[in-house]
Amino acid sequence: MRETFGDAVDPTLSPPDRGRPVLGLDLGATRLRAALVGPDGTILARAEAPSATERGAAAVLEDAEALLTTVRSAGAPGREAAGAGQPLGIGISAIGPVDPRAGVILDPPNAHPSFRDVPIAAELGRRLELPAFLDRDTNVALLGELSFGAARNVADVVYLTVSTGIGGAILAAGVPLHGPDGTAGELGHLLVELDGPPCGCGARGHLEAIASGAGIARAAREAIGSGASPMLAAIAERAGQDRVTAADVAAAEDAGDPAAAGIMDHARRAFSAAMVTIADVFDPTLVVVGGSIARAQGDRLLEPARAAVRETAFRSASRRMAIVPAALGDDVGLVGCLVLVRFRLAGGE
Ligand SMILES: [Zn+2]
Repeated sequence: MRETFGDAVDPTLSPPDRGRPVLGLDLGATRLRAALVGPDGTILARAEAPSATERGAAAVLEDAEALLTTVRSAGAPGREAAGAGQPLGIGISAIGPVDPRAGVILDPPNAHPSFRDVPIAAELGRRLELPAFLDRDTNVALLGELSFGAARNVADVVYLTVSTGIGGAILAAGVPLHGPDGTAGELGHLLVELDGPPCGCGARGHLEAIASGAGIARAAREAIGSGASPMLAAIAERAGQDRVTAADVAAAEDAGDPAAAGIMDHARRAFSAAMVTIADVFDPTLVVVGGSIARAQGDRLLEPARAAVRETAFRSASRRMAIVPAALGDDVGLVGCLVLVRFRLAGGE
């Protein structure tokens, strides 16, 4: 293993334990994924099912148990009996909000009513007879980037994911910042514009309301409704108004549509404003930005934010803050589960 955050917790694990894999579970809004993750972060086996948060908690637990059992037996044939392949534990990355200490999923938005206060870590731990640990998807992603991605050897990091929604996670002086309720780091709900557009959480002017895929799509529907964007209207005509996506708006910007360019520019300015706030509040060395929109936009999103921080952050120290793309892509949650299990077994929280 490389010189990483993971290594920092390794000394408390016995040498044989350092060589053991981990079972990872990634519970997203649309997909439920499981993997056997090797001690070097390699995915040794994987399995996937549609996420069943709309079918209810019992169904998700059944599916998760089945997927984890599959990857556990597929990953290390013949080795598990000897102990070498016996997983160290189960890491669970889930949509928030969660109580990471209790291992409980609280009340994810748009989920089945039974999906309230689900003790997923205790339940899966009991069924698979392994220690199990839970954290919010963004916190797990940050752990993955720390050990194997863009944030190696950095102690003060903020992680942001910009896709349909916007999520965040904070590492302060090497420790994940959970807050007393376990819900700290919801950076999508940073206020960037008083009286701005409505956010899914019920408030106004949050980063997510303007710069997320959902926020960009909402602005596109407004532009179509007011007749401001013939190009987006044509897309809506073909695909249906509810099907116009942030990718369509970005493409319309590239094709020269002024309304689409205005929407994307608004999103980028909101993101830049949030970055200045993050620099001033947390003074991190590094901000890692993942998610489908960040990946698609690249430096078009990050470069204006770097300039805004350089020019307007409060103190010169925070102006040093680097803003870089995430390195791990789609498997970041699964790889992060390895680090989560090691970190918790070593007494971290
Ligand atoms: Zn909000």
